[in-house]
Amino acid sequence: MTDWAATRARFALPEGVIYLDGNSLGPLPVGVPERMERVLAQWRDSLIGGWNEGWMAWPGALGDRIGRLIGAPEGTVTVGDTLSIKVHQLLAAALEMRSERRVILSDRGNFPTDLYMAEGLIASLGRGHELRLVEPEEVEGALTEEVAVLMLTQVDYRTGRMHDMAALTGAAHSVGALALWDLAHSAGAVPVDLSGAGADLACGCTYKYLNAGPGAPAFAYVRPDLIDDVRPALSGWLGHAAPFAFEPSYRPARGIDRLRVGTPPVLQLAALEAALDAWDGVGMDAVRARSVALQERLVAGVERETDLRLASPRDPHRRGSQVSFRHPEGYAIVQALIARGVIGDFRSPDIVRLGVTPLFLSEGDIDAAVGHVAAVMRGREWDRPEMKARRAVT
Ligand SMILES: *Cc1c(COP(=O)(O)O)cnc(C)c1O
Repeated sequence: MTDWAATRARFALPEGVIYLDGNSLGPLPVGVPERMERVLAQWRDSLIGGWNEGWMAWPGALGDRIGRLIGAPEGTVTVGDTLSIKVHQLLAAALEMRSERRVILSDRGNFPTDLYMAEGLIASLGRGHELRLVEPEEVEGALTEEVAVLMLTQVDYRTGRMHDMAALTGAAHSVGALALWDLAHSAGAVPVDLSGAGADLACGCTYKYLNAGPGAPAFAYVRPDLIDDVRPALSGWLGHAAPFAFEPSYRPARGIDRLRVGTPPVLQLAALEAALDAWDGVGMDAVRARSVALQERLVAGVERETDLRLASPRDPHRRGSQVSFRHPEGYAIVQALIARGVIGDFRSPDIVRLGVTPLFLSEGDIDAAVGHVAAVMRGREWDRPEMKARRAVT
């Protein structure tokens, strides 16, 4: 049995706040400040010697720890850069591994940066590739032998709708396409088994459910039997076989290290290392069971108390770890909730998005949040000018 009060104690959440936004920016794990202090002291005392005290190996070591949460074997995950960059790298690798094909298949629910990166890559390759978008339910039927790579985000950032990774990977393989999975809303949210699903390529971020802080680096995975076929499009010196030989010409490192680009963000990696401690002794299956129970409690409460319409799939097994509702005044409703200390977020055009993160949320939090949603709706607290003024980040 997982002690959920103990996992809650691993986070420094402000008093009086119910945080339903751990899907967007995870809260501060209590061990982070001390770990960062330690690395700051190392910088102060060891100066450049820090690189030989472990900093340089961190991207792979932390990649292995993330790998345990996503079903990736040791040596198949590296950490660095932002998720947009990792999407670019993996997509470029996929297009080259299927160089006779011209279609990138994705769905219209995908997160914009993934689609934008694909557009930019297509333009710079200039070889007539096409980004083909279909509805999420139509993906399987749209897989043809024109498709080089199926690029999907497993859990839809707006609705929480979750694709069946194993089934769609199998379907992609059956037409000879590769499958690239974005795990931004999956890693630390739902059990993921990259090996079991046979996924070819995957990436995700560490500042959402993995709680490593604003600007924390992303991770990338390549199936072990494919990695030595990957020619890095972003051929930076730290992905070189011998960075400190300073050779004039690029040779890729063996294995996943070739997806490294430049100098690792050591301070952010210190935060990530401490943040990953929050998962010690916690199984993803237990997290999932509790997430489903808390989500069901939230949906039942909100539907009982208000007229908000569920935007997420009704079946909890087809959702990730968030629940979304639709309302034309969604933005103002979220602002009114924030004014009451219930932090969720709004996604255009009309989505009220509430993240359910079992490591630090309890049944009591969910019941209290339902009470606040009910009060906001009953009292029309959203219907005030200050709730409707749009801020830059929603
Ligand atoms: C959050 C998110 C991103 C963010 O990319 P960054 O480069 O880290 O800003 C990308 N893709 C998906 C699917 C996301 O959910």
